[in-house]
Parts: sequence; C-alpha cells; structure tokens
Amino acid sequence: MEKITEYFGSMVFDERVMKATLSEKVYKSLKRTIDRGVPLDSSVADAVAAAMKDWAIEKGATHYTHWFQPETGATAEKHDSFISPAPDGRVIMEFSGKELVKGEPDASSFPSGGLRATFEARGYTAWDPTSYAFIKDGTLYIPTAFCSYTGEALDKKVPLLRSMEALNRQALRILKLFGNDTVRSIKTSVGPEQEYFLVDAEMYNKRKDLIMSGRTLFGAKPPKGQEMEDHYFGSIKTKVAEYMADLDRELWKLGILAKTKHNEVAPAQHELAPIYKTTNIAADHNQLTMEVMKKVAEKHGLVCLLHEKPFAGVNGSGKHNNWSISTDTGVNLLSPGETPYENAQFLLFLAAVIKAVDDYQDLLRLSVATAGNDHRLGANEAPPAVISIFLGDELTAILEAIETDSPYGGTVKEKMKLGVDVLPEFSKDTTDRNRTSPFAFTGNKFEFRMLGSSNSISCANIHLNAAVAESLRQFADELEGAADFNTALHELIRRTIKDHKRIIFNGNGYDDSWIAEAEKRGLSNLKTTADCMPKICDKKNVDMLTSHGVFTEAEIFSRCDIMLDNYVKQVRIEANTMVDMARREILPAVMKYAADTASAMAAKKNAAEVACKYEARTVAELSALTDSIDLAAADLEAAVDKLDSIDNILEASAFVRDTLLPDMDALRAPADKAETLTSEEYWPFPTYDKLLFGVR
Ligand code: ADP
Ligand code: MG
Repeated sequence: MEKITEYFGSMVFDERVMKATLSEKVYKSLKRTIDRGVPLDSSVADAVAAAMKDWAIEKGATHYTHWFQPETGATAEKHDSFISPAPDGRVIMEFSGKELVKGEPDASSFPSGGLRATFEARGYTAWDPTSYAFIKDGTLYIPTAFCSYTGEALDKKVPLLRSMEALNRQALRILKLFGNDTVRSIKTSVGPEQEYFLVDAEMYNKRKDLIMSGRTLFGAKPPKGQEMEDHYFGSIKTKVAEYMADLDRELWKLGILAKTKHNEVAPAQHELAPIYKTTNIAADHNQLTMEVMKKVAEKHGLVCLLHEKPFAGVNGSGKHNNWSISTDTGVNLLSPGETPYENAQFLLFLAAVIKAVDDYQDLLRLSVATAGNDHRLGANEAPPAVISIFLGDELTAILEAIETDSPYGGTVKEKMKLGVDVLPEFSKDTTDRNRTSPFAFTGNKFEFRMLGSSNSISCANIHLNAAVAESLRQFADELEGAADFNTALHELIRRTIKDHKRIIFNGNGYDDSWIAEAEKRGLSNLKTTADCMPKICDKKNVDMLTSHGVFTEAEIFSRCDIMLDNYVKQVRIEANTMVDMARREILPAVMKYAADTASAMAAKKNAAEVACKYEARTVAELSALTDSIDLAAADLEAAVDKLDSIDNILEASAFVRDTLLPDMDALRAPADKAETLTSEEYWPFPTYDKLLFGVR
C-alpha cells in the first residue's frame, strides 16, 4: 500500500507542485499574490493556468470548474471541459489565465435576496489564490469568490475574508501599543470538529423524509437509545471503520489534515476532526470534507447524514469551531504567556473576546441559525440557545481579582498588577461543565459549539471576527490616546470585566436553572431562526458590520431575506413530506393492519365463542389513531396553504414557528403512537431501531 506521506496532497496544486511546474519568476509573482494580495498580471495568470492544466490532465482531469459558496450554505460548481477544436478535426486541451482568474457562471438562480435585481443581473467568480486548486472526480476545482459586478458579495467567502482583514487591522493596532513592530499580519485559525450519522443506504432509500429533508419526520423512540453510553468512544464497527479509512484516504489526497475519528454519543453517530488551518482554508476544507463524507458513504452502501437532528429524542450533530488568533511570527494571542508583557497582552485579547461575545450575542446566535439547527439548540444534550462563555474556575478567579483589585488566592497571594506581574499558572479545564458551554475557553483557543453539523463555518467566523475586531477597535481608540499605557490598560481590562462578566458562566449549561439565571442576567435567549435572524438588521449590528467593511447594508438585508426564506422553504418541504407520508404510507398501512386484525377477529369469533379482547382493543385504538392522523394531516395541509398566501418573509417565518411546526408535531404524535401498535411487517418504512443499529 502507498504511504500516506506519498499520497497526501497528491490531488492538490500546492507549493510543491507550483515550485516544480512554474518558472522561478512566475512562482515568485504568484507567491506575492498569495501572501500579500498583490494583483496578478495576465502573463503570470496564463503561465499558472497552463501549468495547472498540464498537471491536472496528467492526473486524469478532463474538466475544470470555479468552485464557490453561495449563501445557501452548500457549494456550487459548473464544469467546463478543457477541449477546444483544432482545424484538422481533432481537439486540443486549453485553459487560459482569463479562465482561471474569472468565471461568469450563469448563476442567476442563486438566492441574492434582491441584491442582483437591484444592482446587476449577473455575478462573477474570482479566483482565490490563497486556497489551493485541487482535483476531484476528474475535474480541476478552482476555489473562487462570488460577487456581483458592483462588488457586492453573493457568497460566504468574500465576507469571511473581509472579517479576517478587519480583525487583522485592529489587532495590529493593539500589538503596536505593546511595542510590537515586527508582526506584519495576524490571522484567525479554525479546527472544526465535524459530527455525522451513518445509516444503511437501503433503509435510507425507503424513507421519503430522510430523502427529502435529511431528517426523520416520524418515528417512535427505539427500546434502546443512548442511555447506556456504550457508543461514545466505543470500538468502531468493521463497516464503519472501513468507511472511515477510505474517507481519511480521500481527504488526505485533497490535502485535508483529517486527524481524529471516533464514535459519538448517539448510536450511529461519529466525529471527524482535522488539524486546524487559517480560517478561509478551514472553511473550504470543511465544505469539501462534508461533500467527500457523503460521496465515500455511497461506495460503502451507507448514507452520511449531516442534518443537525436526524432522529428526535437522540443526540443531534454539531460542529465545534475551535478558534484562535495568531501572528505571522507564530504567536497565539489567546495563549497565556510566560512574561508579564505577554500576559497583559493575553488578558487584553481575552477581554476583547468576552466583550465581543456579550455585545454581539445575537449575531453569534443567528450565525448558526437554520431550520435544522433549531431542533438542536436547547434540545437534548446540546448547548442551549443562550450564549455564555466558560473560562474555568481559575481564570475566572484571576479576572475577579483584577476587577476587585484584590489579591488572587491562587498560587501568588498578591495583588495583580498588569504589565508587571506574571500571571499565575492555571490549568486547562476539562470538566463536564466545560463540555456543556456554547463558548468555552480551552487553554489557548475558544471553542464555539453552537454550529450545526451542516452549517458552513463561514457565517459563525464572519460574525465572531467582526465582533472581536470591534472590541479591539474600541480598545485601541482608548489606549492610543492614553497618557500612561499601563494604567490605562489596567483600567480598561478591569472595566471590561466588570461590564461584561454576566456572559461568563462556568456551571452546567444544560441545567434548566441556567436558563432562568441567564434571563435574570439579561442574556438573550433566541430560540428559533424566526426569532433571531431579523436581529441582523438591528442598527447596532448594521453599524458595526458596515463600519468594519465586512458587509454593506444591502448585503445584510439580503442575507436576512435569504436565511429566512431558506428556513420557511425547508420547513414547508418537511410539512409537505409529512402529509404525503401520512396519507400514502402510514394511513394505508395502519388501516390494512386494523382491517386484517378485524377479519382475523371475525374469523375467530365465527370459529369459537372467544372474546378477542386484544383484537378488539387494537382495532379500536388504531381506528381512533387513523382518524387523528387524518385530521392532523388535513390541518397541516391547510397550514401550508395559509403559509403560501403570506407574502411578507417576516410574517411567513413567524407563521412557520407558531403554526406549521406545532402542526407537524400534532401529526407526528398519533402516527408514532400507531407505529407502536402496528405489526412490524405492515409498517411501511424502517423504524428508529433499525436505522440506528442497522449498520454492522
Ligand atoms: P478536544 O477538543 O477533543 O480536546 P483538541 O483541543 O486537541 O481536542 O482539538 C480540537 C480541534 O481544535 C482540532 O481540530 C484542533 O486542530 C483544533 N485546535 C487545536 N489548537 C488550535 C488553535 N490554536 N486554534 C484553532 N484550533 C485549534
Ligand atoms: Mg472539542
């Protein structure tokens, strides 16, 4: 078998390939573009395109595509072959610098929330040379950004890059204040831990709900769930192990640093974590990882479910966004250092994050809001919809000591003077309380755990980077004008802790009492997408995001529209699927079983003087349930009709929350009850126990 070190990145046009295939002059010029954003001239673009094409063809590629991330959250691609007719009837393979740098997909059907209607009918894709091109399934993929001709972002990548730039600008101001002139840039890094479910493909194909919506819309609880906790970190079944090995191999070929794999809490649930990367690359890699996960599953007779809550009553799937800020000189700004100087700087960045998360709770919450993730936030074993920060007892005690100007009771019993004292040592907290926090400090990074498993990581990081940039801007404004830096710094950190400590919570985030406590503290608890999404248009959020150049006002409004529209459409599909399954699968099956039971009962009664209590009760209960199902299906159908008559997207999303979703629950309840009384032979699709324990 080939060695990993040999095939790792073999499908990626990375530094190694660039060096090997480009002239020194072209390579240097491209590097300047990659590292410093210097515009590429057309002769260089032509040379790079030619080298990419030759390399790709040698690897068996026949097509190329610009690969982009429209606002729906998925990725988009349109493949063109390299062929070009030659005069003698043959074809030659061509790919120009122009085709590499810019594409014009006829992509007018992507949602733009009215943006393109207002500005320009078409959008174009522009090569992002910081993310390497790669080959997948015989096509050369070129990572690109997607914009309107007037420069409005129509994707998730452009605002992500802008948010990284905003944070870079403000962090550099702060570093200068600490006397640091050697750092030229700072970048954020992310390691996204990805959870997923695997189910048997044959069973999947029998469930319309999974096919249409990615989650089960019906299903009684199985006799065994996750209560034994025997799946978490348990030994991996052969079929799953084979899948994981194949997945790793495919990801490694694409240069993705897949590192850790294990079983998760729920049966059939697993996790994959890569080694962290610069955020925009981590975002590209995570999108690619999700695609490859699905594709590899097909080869193994499996289906990979990335929905946040494929099974009601069972743990959902999230994505943990491990996030840190570091300098081009290799210093992690969220890592406590060893000298007083490093520690004061660390505390300032820590304070900036605390303030950002408190000031922009709503932006963080809505950055992960989708119809799917709504089922997870606040539900079984998931972070609640309330945002809070876990710092651990020791770090919290240090902040308290600073705030109250009192001695810290840890290792040094002295007042802390920032910029003078060494920070007391504190250990990384790995308690269970930590694991229930939506935003936990884990030693040298923050882990934002509210992301849903199918979310693009871009939105969360756009809002997080922007919010932290805003804290740092305010800090820099204040400190740049200070007469005495150390005193001003101490004062600023103290005040920030005092003003924002309400967001710090080290207790059990899954405890009901926390929700009440959070309310007392004035923290927001935005339960659904319909509740939180409109908040992106609040003046405070628009002002902040536009002032850092992360979004234009028009982009913000269009995003709100798109996300709400997505929410409404997703739930509408689910509602229609439920009506269809209830009428065409569940009702006929239950009715047939009740009828067969009734005939059996009549036959028995004919044959002998018997009471047939079981048969009678079953027929009666099932008949009552079929009536309830029929009624509930009619109600739900009427609700969908009503929804279709609502034009205003805010009203429509509120209607989905207040009427459609409760009506769906009302249909599910009698159907799930009927499942428990109906013979397995008659039930029209695989049940929870089979789906959850069916992969051997
Ligand atoms: P766990 O969360 O299970 O304790 P780790 O903390 O080792 O595991 O890592 C989880 C994820 O965080 C991995 O993807 C890892 O690469 C990433 N990670 C580790 N250090 C950093 C960092 N400084 N910045 C961003 N991500 C990081
Ligand atoms: Mg983790």
